[in-house]
Amino acid sequence: MDTKRNCKRCGEIFTGRSDKVFCCDGCRNDYHNYLRRERNKGMNRVNRILSRNREIIRSLLAEGIESIGTRELSMLTFDFTHFTSMDKRILGRTCYHIYEYCYYYSANGEVHFSSKE
Ligand SMILES: [Zn+2]
Repeated sequence: MDTKRNCKRCGEIFTGRSDKVFCCDGCRNDYHNYLRRERNKGMNRVNRILSRNREIIRSLLAEGIESIGTRELSMLTFDFTHFTSMDKRILGRTCYHIYEYCYYYSANGEVHFSSKE
């Protein structure tokens, strides 16, 4: 039996089957896209940071720059708090990975990069 109610997306009154929640396919799609965007917000933010860090390392290595001061690196908007993994190497040095790249800090405050490929 058809009943009248408000669309969950646009609020318009519509008539339809009692289990229908949206007035049209457009409203149903908009609503589900909105929910998906909200769910992915945190993940998208982290992905953007990792992607920017990766691009910074890629560009530096492409210019032949294999180490740089932490201050200069942070001026390039590198985010030191995000990386894809980390591990301990010889002498207890910690290597941080950003996808196919890795870096470590040396005692003089420089960051050294390399590519795993
Ligand atoms: Zn609607």
